[in-house]
This record gives sequence, C-alpha cells and structure tokens, in this order.
Amino acid sequence: MPSNLVIVYHRQPYEEVEVDGKIEFRENKSPNGIVPTLKSFFGRFESGAWVAWKQAEDPSNPEFDRVVEIDDAYGRYRVSRLALTAEQVTSFYHVTSKEAFWPILHSFKERYNYDPVDWPTFREVNWAFAEAAAAEAAEEAVVWVHDYNLWLVPGYLRTMRPDLKISFFHHTPFPAADMFNVLPWRREILESLLACDVVGFHIPRYANNFVSAARSLLDVEVTKREKVAPEFAAEVTALSERSLPTELSYGARRVAVLASPVGVDADYIDSVARQPETEARAAEIRADLGEAKLLLSVGRTDYTKGGIEQLLSFERLLENRTDLHGRVRLMHVSVPANSNMTVYDNIQREIEQMAGRINGRFGTLDWQPIALISRAIPFVDLVAYYRAADVAWITPLADGMNLVAKEFCAARVDGDGVLVLSEFAGAAVEMGSALLTNPFSHRSMDSAIAQAVDMPEVERRDRMQALHDTVHRHDIRFWAEEQMKALLTPPAHPAAA
Ligand code: UDP
Repeated sequence: MPSNLVIVYHRQPYEEVEVDGKIEFRENKSPNGIVPTLKSFFGRFESGAWVAWKQAEDPSNPEFDRVVEIDDAYGRYRVSRLALTAEQVTSFYHVTSKEAFWPILHSFKERYNYDPVDWPTFREVNWAFAEAAAAEAAEEAVVWVHDYNLWLVPGYLRTMRPDLKISFFHHTPFPAADMFNVLPWRREILESLLACDVVGFHIPRYANNFVSAARSLLDVEVTKREKVAPEFAAEVTALSERSLPTELSYGARRVAVLASPVGVDADYIDSVARQPETEARAAEIRADLGEAKLLLSVGRTDYTKGGIEQLLSFERLLENRTDLHGRVRLMHVSVPANSNMTVYDNIQREIEQMAGRINGRFGTLDWQPIALISRAIPFVDLVAYYRAADVAWITPLADGMNLVAKEFCAARVDGDGVLVLSEFAGAAVEMGSALLTNPFSHRSMDSAIAQAVDMPEVERRDRMQALHDTVHRHDIRFWAEEQMKALLTPPAHPAAA
C-alpha cells in the first residue's frame, strides 16, 4: 500500500539480530536517539514507510529481502532497504559524507579531503534513495529526508514526483557561505535542497547560513523573514515563538526554512533518574569517589568533539590548582565510531596517550585524575553517572546540537550539578544558564572549569533550575509538534512548479 508519510534516513529503524538462524527485528538500544522519535510520526499518518540502506554482498541476489513489514509499538510500517555493496557504502558514507562533507559542515577546512571522493557514486546512491521513496509514496504524500548524506535526494525526487511534499532536516550545523562554498558540488546540493517545501535546521544561525549560501550562488530571494537577533538569548526567544522564520523563493518555488532544536525525552529521563536502581548506582559511584568531585565528559571520538583540547585544559587545571589534587576526578567517555577510519583511530590513540600521560604526571597510589572509558555506556548507566557527577563538561569545537548536555540537565532531578557547555554546540542557544565557554580559548576553558568546581550550591541550583525547565519545555515532543506543523502546512506554490 502506498504511504502517506515516507521517512528517508540512511540507517534502518531497528536492529537486525540473528537468533537460531532466523532474523529478528529489535528496537534500537538507545531509547533516546532520534530514531524512536521519527518512528513515533507513523502513528500520526494513515500509513508509513521508511527508506534506509542495508549492506548486501550481491545486491542482485533475489534472496535479498528488500522490503520488510514491521508491526511494533509505533504501529505498522514498511521498511524499504536499498541493497548497497561494501564499496558503495564506503564511497557514499565513509568517503564523501565523512571525509568531505563532515569537516566542512563543522568548519574544519583543513580536514576536508576531496581527492578520494567519487561523485558519480554519491549521485547514484542518492538517486536510488529517491527512487525507493518515490515508489513508496502515495499521491501528495509527505516525504521527510534526513541529513547531509542524502543531500541530493530532494532534487531527484522532485523530478520523479512533483506532487510530493518534501521536507529535509539537517542534524548537523550548516556552515557560513565561505565555508560551504569550498564544496565543488555546492550548486548541485543547494539546488536539490531548494526543491524541498521545507528545509529544517536546529537553530536560526544554521538556517541563516543556509540562506546566505543559497543567495551567494543562486538567484534566490528572501520573500518573508522574521528578524532574528544575533545574540544567542534572542535566538532562543525567536525559536520558541515561531517555527518558520524565513521563506525563500527560487524560480516558481517557495521554500520554508525552519529552525527548531531537537530535544530529549525529558520525562523518560526523569523517570529513569528517579528509579531506585539508578539512585543506588549513583550513590555507589559517589561512595567510590570519596571527597573528590566528579567531572563528566561524554561524546563520540571525533575531532569535532574537542576531547584533546579538554584534556589539555584539565592538565592546566591540575598544574595551576594543586589544592585540587586528590579532590577532582575526570571521567572522560570517548566512544569510538565503528568506522575503521584512520582519522578517528588516530584521535582515539591521541586521547588514550594524553590521558595516560596526565595520569602518569599527577596520579598517586590513591588517586588517578582521569578515568578514560573508550566504549559506549548503556543509557540507563549513563543516567546514573549524570546523577552522580558534580560537573558535566561538554566542550565540542562544533556540534549540531549535543544531546548529552540536555540529558544531563533532565537527569538532575535533585536540582544540583553544573553544566559547562561549549558555545559552539547548538544546545548553547537554549542553555544560557550553563557556564558557556569558548573551547578555542585556553583562558575561557580554564576559567569555566575552575568556576564550575568552585561554584557555591545556591548558584548551582539556580542555574540548574533554569536548565531543567528549558529541557522540559523544549523536549522531544515540542520538536515533534513543530515538525508536524511544518510537514502538514500546504506548499505555498503549485505542486508542479
Ligand atoms: N550515549 C550513550 N552512551 C555513551 C555515550 C553516549 O548512550 O557511552 C548516547 C547519549 O546518551 C546521547 C547520544 O549517545 O543520546 C549522543 O548524542 P549527542 O547529540 O550528544 O552526540 P552525537 O554523537 O549525536 O554527535
């Protein structure tokens, strides 16, 4: 049956597990990722489908199960899987997306690697996604495409199916025009995005960057624009008041540009944080620490996450504040990406060496300053660490949103705890009561962490109250409602334009 909502996301919406030679489809382990939220949209439409890829040794093998029907807590929906070879996955995902797009999106020009990109393969894979979406979509259906590795899908889909309502959401930052324009395929990408009815971002700054990139290369006009002040706080007010700040016209098309920050399931995290087992685990962690304060840092191993810069700041803290020796502990969780990419392996090694060096330099028989964890911690255990920590130290150099910062605040049902947050995380826009810091400045990093460690309880509680309110107000349901409004707003142009 054709679907009224088609979600196009490169990953499948479940985990495929082999049990006694049979394949079972299970709920993804993380209850808090974006996947369950996207699946929850199926309950709002008559019928739904999800398009993703699945690696296949031989894509032409008739045994390959291309479409599976799922019936789970989110309802009944189809999953259409594109069979991609290992070479296609490497080229489209690991090379073009991760080596060329990712550094540019996060404004790391020096890490941009253009040479190995095989653009025809990127086009071919995006074309296949578009074809699969077109095959699933009912007349005038909503097709919701996610993230930069599918940048060309809207343009292809528009040529195949002019009747569709096409929406695109970016989960990463969108850089300023002079950074984005480094990409040789910039025009093709922008033209594809301008074939959408809605293009969504987390925060107004990314939306504005997209608008200026489009205007720098194409004959695009801003037909409606709400004023968004450059200050972060003003950005927040603008965000909460409306969801469609800008409308562009490109030829006969009208494109709404939306800024809406993804949130966390604050109620769920609240309930996990209050469970007796979580409280007991948090108490155990605290007991192990003795009098020491726990600084917690959690992120994927990626140069964008600023792990090295943070360890160096911690080293300077220990150099300058001998009074803290034996009295602070940094738990640095750096989860390696499962990608076999040299760039990530190198960072992981650098982080391990640096943590070892700092421990060797300052550690004693009774005190090891850094506990480095290089594997993913199950979410419920992570909540216990959130509860036990004195400070969450989250200092990415660039980050589309950063959910860890929001999860930490949702987990602090005791109303205590300090969040030190990079101003270059999208989350900083809403979280002005955190200690905002500039990870490119030693002085800013060092004073923020010192201030966090020394902060009096009254101030900690005041700030946490405001942060706690924010993550509950702008939670995942708020984001879902904003998206839903945008998906259901009729296109402001004739469908065939
Ligand atoms: N996470 C986890 N265990 C870990 C580290 C991270 O479950 O050991 C989860 C974390 O709870 C969060 C997500 O991974 O929901 C990371 O999201 P974020 O937006 O912070 O960063 P991303 O990896 O998407 O850039």
